[in-house]
Amino acid sequence: MTAQIIDGKAFAATVRAKVATHVARLKEENNLTPGLAVVLVGEDPASQVYVRSKGKQTIEAGMKSVEHRLDPDTTEDALLTLIKQLNDDATIHGILVQLPLPAHLDEDLVINAIDPAKDVDGFHISNVGLLGTGQKSMVPCTPLGCLMMLRDHHGSLSGLDAVVIGRSNIVGKPMAQLLLGDSCTVTIAHSRTKDLPDVVRRADIVVAAVGRPQMVPGDWIKPGATVIDVGINRIDAEGGKTRLVGDVDYESCAAVAGAITPVPGGVGPMTIACLLANTVTACCRANGLAEPK
Ligand code: NDP
Repeated sequence: MTAQIIDGKAFAATVRAKVATHVARLKEENNLTPGLAVVLVGEDPASQVYVRSKGKQTIEAGMKSVEHRLDPDTTEDALLTLIKQLNDDATIHGILVQLPLPAHLDEDLVINAIDPAKDVDGFHISNVGLLGTGQKSMVPCTPLGCLMMLRDHHGSLSGLDAVVIGRSNIVGKPMAQLLLGDSCTVTIAHSRTKDLPDVVRRADIVVAAVGRPQMVPGDWIKPGATVIDVGINRIDAEGGKTRLVGDVDYESCAAVAGAITPVPGGVGPMTIACLLANTVTACCRANGLAEPK
């Protein structure tokens, strides 16, 4: 069997096009422009690339994009003051603080200072609680993008066995909540899981969010299963170059799976598209307007 490739790049383009249509309507009918503020502390190269890309795509969708680039030694007080300003700014509907923060800053404190209604990353404790109890929340972008691709591929996910490898607050746990919300039978695996290959072999859906290059081989995959690879790992390649790989071994998994997301071009593009969609949702909610479907 050769797996169907789930084209996250193309899917993300359709999500962004829908976002742009909604933004144009908000401007025309309500004189509103959704605004996204991204805060970057320090000079982490990967974070700089993500922030640039987020800003570019925000503008391409017709939205307002604001970037705050702060020195690596920015104090917690200065960062919290900026967040308060953005919370109070009616032209800003989404606030994203790029993680990881430098070690001297308390990530939980900073994230929980964001107005939950503007927390387009969905990491604020209120949004985590709302998601966990099945209430309307801001949903973290990466798991949301994975869920959209899974729903698109399967239609209903009800009753499917899903294994999420990884239990981070930003990917693994919210992914598991979303799959549970769609009535999957969910297992969360992590570094202490016993017999991980056997656990993964039971799954109709495998979501790998580990941060270990090509860790999941094809012989862990149940024939026909759907594999969603969240991992983004840069490894050495021939000729002194580097290349991006996921957390699954693409070749061997694609030979067994029914469907698989590639890296790059799978989950990554969907994450930013969902960030834009969340910002439009936040703008609509803030103004008592119907949310995009
Ligand atoms: P974290 O490092 O926060 O979490 C990794 C998880 O994997 C932990 O729960 C850890 O378990 C688990 N783990 C580590 N080693 C093993 C192992 N040998 N067996 C089973 N589980 C293991 O990572 P993130 O969740 O932040 O990110 C995961 C990956 O997704 C990374 O490659 C990251 O780059 C990528 N990513 C991609 C995004 C995108 O837009 N495509 C967005 C965000 C992340 P334990 O808790 O026990 O330590």
